[in-house]
Amino acid sequence: MSEVVSDISNRPLLEISDLKVRFQTRDGLAHVVDLERLSVDEGETFGLAGESGAGKTVVAMSIFRLIPSPPGIISGGRILVRGRDVLSMREEDLRKMRGRKMSMIFQDPMSSLNPVFTVGQQVTRVIRTHERLSAREAEEKAARALEIVKLPDPGGTLRKYPHELSGGMRQRVMIAMGLSCGAELLVADEPTRGLDVTIQAGILKLLNEIKRETGMTVLFIANNLGVLARMCNRVGVMYAGRIVEIGDGADVFRKPAHPYTMALLAALPRAETRSEKLAVTEGFPPDPLRIPPGCAFRPRCPRAAARCEAERPQLLEAGPGRLVACHLAG
Ligand code: SF4
Repeated sequence: MSEVVSDISNRPLLEISDLKVRFQTRDGLAHVVDLERLSVDEGETFGLAGESGAGKTVVAMSIFRLIPSPPGIISGGRILVRGRDVLSMREEDLRKMRGRKMSMIFQDPMSSLNPVFTVGQQVTRVIRTHERLSAREAEEKAARALEIVKLPDPGGTLRKYPHELSGGMRQRVMIAMGLSCGAELLVADEPTRGLDVTIQAGILKLLNEIKRETGMTVLFIANNLGVLARMCNRVGVMYAGRIVEIGDGADVFRKPAHPYTMALLAALPRAETRSEKLAVTEGFPPDPLRIPPGCAFRPRCPRAAARCEAERPQLLEAGPGRLVACHLAG
């Protein structure tokens, strides 16, 4: 059953265009992201899917200008948040924007939380970086944030160290930190990775509830397209640093248009199919040091034609609300 929350304006909160991210390596320049366009409307939950290494996390980190340089280089493009380009913004303005306008939940809550500080010290530090509050006011606000993410005994949890909490509780603390300053845009980078299935379900449910209550905009990153299609208004699928398909979450799930999206969905276990074997896409994504000309999916694509080798497909409209980068789409 769909869990999508829809209260979306048609005003874009996040707009990315022609984003190019490279990493300098000993063997040459790795072309990690070449993203033509992506826009997320105010109030929308947008899911970004794709295999590990597709460039999803690099996109998320670019939004916050957190790509380590060197070796990373954002060599082109624009990332507008509420119309302001974070890539050309002064460092001081960007710092104010992080936390107050946009915040991020990272993949691994254990390495994102500092083991030598209590939860309270860490959450209040985030709050006091962005708001002029006394220590007591910040602590009250931190306790409220822990309450929102349904952590039992918020006062007691604030006094604990990260190692005293379970993985699911640590991730809830990370979500509380993300929400504590009322950010409009939340980027959740595989927030359930490494958690067991029941905890994952709890975190996803929580994110949906918070979204329903606050109306914030969410960019949700995950490997599992099935989860995203259920949670998100729209989804985008990345392959080898590019977006290959964008569309309504349920529509893409029902009727994928790009052969890579089809392959991702065919590899998902489904309760209704009793087949013991899951479809596996042969081959590997291309080496970012040697992205082939033409379509990067061609060596793995069962539909590849001569044109696919010579010409790179652009991300074009292939139906209402659907964008697809494939010569055969539409
Ligand atoms: Fe396959 Fe060609 Fe489409 Fe690429 S452009 S996905 S190779 S059919």
